[in-house]
Amino acid sequence: MALELMCPCGENITALEQPAFVDAVTAHLASAHEGRSYPADMIMAMANTVPDSRVTG
Ligand SMILES: [Zn+2]
Repeated sequence: MALELMCPCGENITALEQPAFVDAVTAHLASAHEGRSYPADMIMAMANTVPDSRVTG
């Protein structure tokens, strides 16, 4: 299963595996929500699992 997080700003962040997913969420926070960051375990707690087909790359 892939991972998905719908950011409150409307950005939908997806990745196939945890390390890439945490990196993608962290990068989005840094670029779109300056000053916000969350530890990996909190990011994972907010994530939804979705079918791999939902991930478009
Ligand atoms: Zn956002």
